Amino acid sequence: PTEDYENLRRRIYSNTKELWYYVHHELTKVIQEDNKAEKVQTILDQIGERKRSLLSDQQLFEELDGYHEWRQAEAANVSDLVQRRLHYLQNPPDCKDARKLICNLNKGCGFGCQLHHIVYCLIFAYATERTLILNSKGWRYNNKGWDYVFMPISDSCTSSAGEKVVQWPVTYDAKVVSLSFIDSISQKPKFLPLAIPKDLAHRITRFNGDPASWWIGQMLKYVLKPRQAMQKAINETIAKMNFKTPIVGVHIRRTDKVGTEAAFHHIHEYMAHVKDYYDQLELTRTVDVRRVYLATDDANVLEDARSKYPEYTFLGDPSIAKTAATHRRYTPLSLTGLLVDLHMLAMCDYLVCTFSSQVGRVAYEMMQTNRVDASNSFFSLDDIYYFGGQNSHDRVAVMPNDGAYQDIPFQVGDLIGIAGNHWNGYGRGTNKRTNMNGLIPWYKTADHLVLYPFPEYKQVPM
Ligand code: GDP
Repeated sequence: PTEDYENLRRRIYSNTKELWYYVHHELTKVIQEDNKAEKVQTILDQIGERKRSLLSDQQLFEELDGYHEWRQAEAANVSDLVQRRLHYLQNPPDCKDARKLICNLNKGCGFGCQLHHIVYCLIFAYATERTLILNSKGWRYNNKGWDYVFMPISDSCTSSAGEKVVQWPVTYDAKVVSLSFIDSISQKPKFLPLAIPKDLAHRITRFNGDPASWWIGQMLKYVLKPRQAMQKAINETIAKMNFKTPIVGVHIRRTDKVGTEAAFHHIHEYMAHVKDYYDQLELTRTVDVRRVYLATDDANVLEDARSKYPEYTFLGDPSIAKTAATHRRYTPLSLTGLLVDLHMLAMCDYLVCTFSSQVGRVAYEMMQTNRVDASNSFFSLDDIYYFGGQNSHDRVAVMPNDGAYQDIPFQVGDLIGIAGNHWNGYGRGTNKRTNMNGLIPWYKTADHLVLYPFPEYKQVPM
């Protein structure tokens, strides 16, 4: 398929939802103001049903267009190519001679945050053609270090012992460079997320609707290889769970996050999206059991969900949630639990979460590696997808907007720096041409993908 065809197909899908957010928001307001509440509710239910039918049809369209198998094969091939390039980078012919990048895993934050730190380092390594060396002694999730839990990120080059180390940014081409956390580097290179490699972009965009998170997912795929003992522990816990599809993954992040970095969200808010998913699925198939995999750091949530939603079957392990709570978090046992949760969430057909949480974002990134395209298989109750410390995330105007309502004006081609989507038909952003900040009708804009000329690793066969 051509890129235009693919972009149009995704656009129709996304804008159908945007229409729904708009109608839902407006009519909900009318309910509060007007005594014709019952009538309006009927209209809402009807529009909801029609929206589900529209989306369901469009999903079929994707299967019927004749490119289904092509997309599967292409996604597998490009992923394989990226993995082989990373393997080549990480296993230089002679480690002594290799240019290196050193990162310290011991960032004082949770595992999702640390994984994103590794992703940032690996992208940096890939962009600068340096072998990544990960220092992880005294790691908070396992004192003995990363390599004790996961396979080392190189088979042959894991240390820079005895070599002179220079702190990034370097003024000359130093052989061994050490990199600080993304939050504290002064000159932010253009190759950092959400940029993707230019040489692969035309391929990724043809099978995936969110190439930036796909690319980040590929980094996770390379580093997240549990060792045998860890894999066994994960498998044993999973075996007890009777995991079957269809299933929706729900991630509920509470404890220390609430009130500091994110708002509290009631179980009803998550379940409304789970219900919507199943209502849509039932238009094309019978669902005997509405399954939900529930991952959380709040030990009370699972029981609460089961009592409030008896018509759903909840999978999840209360002991995992217990060890995930703040005061028991940084232990090997809690890490096993989190890996189980992430693995399960990434296997679900659909994900409901809050992207303010790095756990929610990692689950989505992993989902992107498990299938051809997961970009329409999630709902985040708060933030749009982002990478902590990313360069500016823009949308480009594809239709003019005169800004006659509460929104800001823009012309076709204007870049708009995005702050977020309000899930009511509008987002907020700043028009980079006019510097005006305000509401933007989301459907008149498209994601602006940043392509960066990363090295092309010609030594690795296509
Ligand atoms: P964030 O704080 O949610 O953005 O993500 P971080 O990964 O940086 O820190 C949260 C930490 O809380 C995780 O690394 C886990 O240790 C724990 N945690 C949060 N949510 C879950 C969950 O659903 N399951 C498990 N097992 N642990 C969780």
